[in-house]
Amino acid sequence: MLGQLRSIVQEVNSARDLQSALDIIVTRVRSALNTQVCSVYLLDSDINSHVLMASQGLKAEAVGRVSLQTGEGLVGLVAKHAEPINLSDASKHPSYFYLQDTGEEEFNSFLGVPIIHHRAVLGVLVIQQRESRRFDEGEEAFLITLSAQLSGVIAHAEATGAIQGLSPSGQKTEDTVFPGVSGSSGVAIGRAVVVFPHADLSQIPQRPAKDIEHEVAFFKTCIDAVRRDMNDLYEKIAGQVAEEERQLFSVYARMLDDNALGNEVVARIRQGIWAQGALAYVANEHVRTFEAMSDDYLRERAVDIRDLCSRVLFYLQAREPVEIEYQDNTILVSEELTPSMLAEAPKDKLKGLISVKGSGNSHVAILARTMGIPTVMGAVDLPYAQLEGRSLVVDGYRGEVITSPSKALRSRYREIIKEQEQLIAGLEGIKEEPCETLDGHRVQLWVNTGLMSDVMQSLDQGAEGIGLFRTEVPFLLSERFPSEQEQYAIYREQLEAFAPKKVTMRTLDIGGDKSLPYFPIEEANPFLGWRGIRVTLDHPEIFMAQIRAMLRASVGLNNLQIMLPMISNVNEVAMAQQLIKKAYRELVQEGVDVRYPPIGVMIELPAAVYQTSVLAKRVDFVSVGSNDLTQYLLAVDRNNPRVASLYSAFHPAVIAALQQVVTLAKAEGKPVSICGEMAGDPGAAVLLIAMGYDVLSMNASTLLKVKSVIRSVSMDVAKDLLEQVADLDDAQTIRSAVDMALYNAGVDRLLRSSRTH
Ligand code: PEP
Ligand code: MG
Repeated sequence: MLGQLRSIVQEVNSARDLQSALDIIVTRVRSALNTQVCSVYLLDSDINSHVLMASQGLKAEAVGRVSLQTGEGLVGLVAKHAEPINLSDASKHPSYFYLQDTGEEEFNSFLGVPIIHHRAVLGVLVIQQRESRRFDEGEEAFLITLSAQLSGVIAHAEATGAIQGLSPSGQKTEDTVFPGVSGSSGVAIGRAVVVFPHADLSQIPQRPAKDIEHEVAFFKTCIDAVRRDMNDLYEKIAGQVAEEERQLFSVYARMLDDNALGNEVVARIRQGIWAQGALAYVANEHVRTFEAMSDDYLRERAVDIRDLCSRVLFYLQAREPVEIEYQDNTILVSEELTPSMLAEAPKDKLKGLISVKGSGNSHVAILARTMGIPTVMGAVDLPYAQLEGRSLVVDGYRGEVITSPSKALRSRYREIIKEQEQLIAGLEGIKEEPCETLDGHRVQLWVNTGLMSDVMQSLDQGAEGIGLFRTEVPFLLSERFPSEQEQYAIYREQLEAFAPKKVTMRTLDIGGDKSLPYFPIEEANPFLGWRGIRVTLDHPEIFMAQIRAMLRASVGLNNLQIMLPMISNVNEVAMAQQLIKKAYRELVQEGVDVRYPPIGVMIELPAAVYQTSVLAKRVDFVSVGSNDLTQYLLAVDRNNPRVASLYSAFHPAVIAALQQVVTLAKAEGKPVSICGEMAGDPGAAVLLIAMGYDVLSMNASTLLKVKSVIRSVSMDVAKDLLEQVADLDDAQTIRSAVDMALYNAGVDRLLRSSRTH
């Protein structure tokens, strides 16, 4: 059973498009279950119908033509209830609807199971037979298992059609929405530029060739290079492996010959495709064929083809690095955007960002917010590799990507872009104004930084201090641990630029999703593992160099504060303080005129929330890292798009924890700030000031938005809202209550949790 399931899924997975996937399903399922009919009906929401998309057993001419209105017939009933229906005599059921022209009158029994992807019913998989008997439990279970596994493949195939402007049944379609989560607010209209990691055949776009003859010639030189490599390997391993294995390399070399793979690639280039795309196309076709074979040995050959073609690809990419053409309205798309991809693209041409992986609190999303670029993260169903050059809308407010945008939709979004520009221009006017509520309650707005460019932008926006300098950023950009002197120079720059305003430097916070290329940490559960203070206490030499650099950099300025990340117990604080004191004593002995800085802890673990009082007693200030606190309180990986909809700083448990921290820390007389992304959300900021947070530290790009909202509410309104929220029991309701309060305060709609439609 399992073998059969696997082989069907594998074959469907390797199908080229939706229709072939569905044809494989009906053929294979009918024979596996030894029944007379197997059909797939898919929902086409453009025409509100379930269309018979493929069938074995019903009349071929009905396929693609016959459809049922949503809710109609047994198929409609299965879809409506999202549950299987198993009947021995279908025609006796009150919902039975006779489908003319299909020939189904011959078949009595009916088993329909829903095809569900991410809670949405995509369609119904049906088997029928003449004999009037219920399908047995085993058959039902088989069909349910298969349907659950195939739904993702069907969704992907449907999505591929949709971005080409076609609905499942081939109707012209527009404005297809691909949900993700918001990475950075704002909207953008532009054309996709797909960036992909090097030497990965599955991710090469089919771009046109600029010069066909040049591409062919270049491809041939690369093939020659790989052939030479293969022959070298063949010679080199003589005597080291069995002769049959050694032969593999000469087989490889022959596969590249003109009358084999090489020839096919050249033919494709001659059709006008660039060499990398042609190679990827041919390779993937062969890989698909081999992967679909039932013979284990032959299936394994898919690996050989992939390996061989990746080697050719490596030469194609290495000898002629891909020049990405960034158009004026570039929407950068990737399976997993990285900070370096953002860095490579010219900032003035970058209008929007889309990442299939990751979520709103991934570090790349934080970077996007710093740069103020509308971003959608976690658009898991988007067939990104085929988006090259296509027109797209990025709705960073709602966290949605819209493909094939209609004229009407585009003009609606152009209006929003205009509104955005007006809003930003209007915010310029409050740069010099204090951040205070209508009734004069003063709030400090600080910034989070990582690079020197952030500092410049922050000062321009009127930041009153740095609440979080992510010191790991310069570490991430280095090729080894930066030396004490190198660190000194970086820290000095930040401290000098902000003096006499305070600069809070967090000690190295690596691990989790931030690993240094020169210090890899491989763990099964990195967010629960060796992270933040845990790493640096285990490596006092790294910690000491960093603290010494910070202390030396603060000489004469005295605006440094040091903050400890990932604290889960008082011992860690005590040990870190000992090391900081040691560094301080060393410097004093060396004759450096250094002042001992205020030390603070980050509250980012649930354990730390409960220990706020004891932690606060030992330190000079407390700062909440709400990004991690939310992740750990709700047990939702901040990078995992599958659970991104569960990640919300408005969850009542998070709100209660935030309130508890500020109350307990204040009872110890210690200042409390918050430096998670939540502080930069205008609605959340209102709640936070009502709770009593003294300092909100955020991305510079959100500072004026938060200031504008705080200036339009009174403390009474903020406190009323907080009281109201305390009685609400879910994140969505809390978010809506906050939005409503901002609406009543006359706040611009783009500053509320911002609905664009
Ligand atoms: C946080 O966790 O809220 C925080 C500010 O730290 P980071 O996002 O760098 O993990
Ligand atoms: Mg954190």
